[in-house]
Amino acid sequence: MFSALRGMPLDLFFRDDDADDDLPELHRLLKIFGNRGVPISLAVIPGTLTRPGAQTLRRAADSGEWLELHQHGWRHENHERTGRKCEFGVSRDMDAQRTDIAQGWARLADMVETPVAPVFTPPWNRCTPITAEVLRELGFCALSRERAGGALGVSLPEVSIAVDLFTWKGGAALKSPRSLGEEILRWAGERAPVGILLHHKVMRPEAFAMVEQLLDAVRSAARFHKLGDLCRNAN
Ligand SMILES: [Zn+2]
Repeated sequence: MFSALRGMPLDLFFRDDDADDDLPELHRLLKIFGNRGVPISLAVIPGTLTRPGAQTLRRAADSGEWLELHQHGWRHENHERTGRKCEFGVSRDMDAQRTDIAQGWARLADMVETPVAPVFTPPWNRCTPITAEVLRELGFCALSRERAGGALGVSLPEVSIAVDLFTWKGGAALKSPRSLGEEILRWAGERAPVGILLHHKVMRPEAFAMVEQLLDAVRSAARFHKLGDLCRNAN
C-alpha cells in the first residue's frame, strides 16, 4: 500500500478538523502522530471546546513539538439561510465576523493554556474577503481552506489543503489508498507542500489504519510541516 510514495522526497502537512471534545478518535489520532513524532495541525472549535477536550490537547501539545493547534471558526454554526453552509459567509458583516473570531481566539488561548498558531481554518472551508481582512487586522498570519477555494482578493497568505482523506457527497466515504496516493503525487508535482485533511470524528479503524500506513510509507523521505511554520515562511 502506498508503494508509489515510498522514498519520495515529498513535502507534506496534515490538518485535522473539528477538535473540541475528549473523544476516543481524538486520542487515537494523537497517538498515531505522537508516537511517530510526525507534525500535525489541529483545527480546534473554540466555542464547543470542552474542558476535558482542552486538557487532552494541552497534554499532547506539552509532550512534544509535533502538535500544533489553531482556530476553527467560533462555534461551527451555519448562518446562511440559503446556499451552502457557512459560519463566515456573505450574511455576516465585518463586526459580526470580528466579534466571533476574536472571542474564539480568546477562549481557545484561555482553555488550552498552550501556544496557538495564528492560523484560521473557516468551518466548511468557506469564508469571504471580509473574513481575511478581519484576520489580518487581528494579527493572524494565514488562512487555511481547500486549494479549490478560489482567490479572496486580499493579501493574507493561504496555507490550504489539497487532499481530503474522505469524499463528502452523501456522507463521509473513505477514499481508496490508490486514489489517495495518486492525488498526493499529482499535487506534489504542482506545488509543495501538499496539505492532507483528516476528520478524526468520522474516522473508523480502517481510516486510522490507512493513515498509519501512509505515514509509515512516506516517513523516511518526506519532510513534514506545520501550518504556523508555513505561514511564517509565506510572509
Ligand atoms: Zn469543520
